[in-house]
Amino acid sequence: MNFEDSAAEAAYRKQVSAWLAEHAPAWSTAGARRDSEAEIVRLARGWQACKAAAGYVGITWPCEVGGQGGNAIQQVIFSQEEARHRVATMPFQVGMGMCIPTVYSFASHAVAQRYVGPAMRGEEIWCQLFSEPAAGSDLAGIRTRALRDGDRWIVNGQKVWTSWAHHSDYGLLLVRSDAGLPKHKGLTMFYVDMRAPGVDVRQIRGMTGETDFNEVFFTDVVIPDSQRLGDVGQGWKVAMTTLMHERFAIGRPADAPSVDELVALARSVRSSEQTLLDNAAVREAIAGFYVRDAGLDFIRMRVQTSLSKGRAPGPEASVLKLVMAKTRQDIGAFAMDLLESGAIRDTDSTPLDGFRYYQLFAPGLRIAGGTDEILRNIIAERVLGLPPDLRVDRDLPFNALK
Ligand SMILES: Cc1cc2nc3c(=O)[nH]c(=O)nc-3n(C[C@H](O)[C@H](O)[C@H](O)COP(=O)(O)OP(=O)(O)OC[C@H]3O[C@@H](n4cnc5c(N)ncnc54)[C@H](O)[C@@H]3O)c2cc1C
Repeated sequence: MNFEDSAAEAAYRKQVSAWLAEHAPAWSTAGARRDSEAEIVRLARGWQACKAAAGYVGITWPCEVGGQGGNAIQQVIFSQEEARHRVATMPFQVGMGMCIPTVYSFASHAVAQRYVGPAMRGEEIWCQLFSEPAAGSDLAGIRTRALRDGDRWIVNGQKVWTSWAHHSDYGLLLVRSDAGLPKHKGLTMFYVDMRAPGVDVRQIRGMTGETDFNEVFFTDVVIPDSQRLGDVGQGWKVAMTTLMHERFAIGRPADAPSVDELVALARSVRSSEQTLLDNAAVREAIAGFYVRDAGLDFIRMRVQTSLSKGRAPGPEASVLKLVMAKTRQDIGAFAMDLLESGAIRDTDSTPLDGFRYYQLFAPGLRIAGGTDEILRNIIAERVLGLPPDLRVDRDLPFNALK
């Protein structure tokens, strides 16, 4: 494990941080909790265009499609440095992180040329239409179906939890094209125009009060075969390419309250003659969070070292995500205990608002990109060598499953 950047990485970090110090403030936001959604989208578009003009979008993407031809560690360094600034990136994270790399990997050069540039410059937003009411962890169980009709497909079904679909121009859509095959084999991937007739996007309000999730209904939506990504029946392989690109997300969320902020909070609250920080039980609990965060930093360095050496990170990325999300939720809950408060949103103060927000937001972190239980299964199988989950339905035709 490396604790320091290599000379080349340090030079890149210096260049990036100088550029960010000059340009990021112009696009900074008060944060997800205080800007309106329209303002976040406006700022995110501007920031995306600014980064694209400077060559900081598509850092790992091939030069032929307009990317920078860089390596994974450069992307990680840019993301780490960018996270030090309050810039809006949310509406573009799914598109840049997962959808566009899938498009240029599986579409013709002409199609890639059409879509990569506008997405890079913040002109078009993309979403990921994978999860369904009965298929999340078991993604291969999706039921949205596509029937072939000459050189077009007719799609019917429902997706759910689609982040930012209501602002999206295009979506990456996984469908079942042959229910007579085993579940992983009858899938096909398309990209879809989110304004096509028959696409109905309905917002869902989460417990943080935000409405960036959606249900998306498809009723007789016509998709030309030219919008297929990969071969018919190869949708699982294409989907795995999409999900592989999630691996660069190795930091803690930029706006998550830190242990230092927890210390400041405990110092600011008085109980009789003392502050809460003078209480031994409070100090012990905060020390526990500090130890967990220090452990996370070391695992993060292991992941980063793998990327730096050109290797894909192994199961340590699962450990990182599992512990990080639970720690953020626990810190939020502990802050509420200190304040003898609940998670109801009633003030706009900092850092209190950040803790309260994270207590409500972190359960989602523990679900998105692999639930706690799925990550534990990965760790059990790949690290501890325990027997794999039973997969009795793997070889049966999908339409024979009860
Ligand atoms: C913030 C957020 C953003 C998201 N954005 C998107 C998006 O943009 N596009 C998209 O397609 N989806 C998105 N999702 C959906 C996400 O991918 C799914 O919620 C996730 O895969 C879990 O699926 P599920 O909700 O159907 O739960 P299920 O898979 O039904 O799980 C229910 C419970 O059963 C447990 N469980 C399931 N299988 C096993 C098993 N084999 N062993 C042990 N326990 C198991 C799970 O851990 C969980 O506790 C998002 C989710 C969140 C929270």
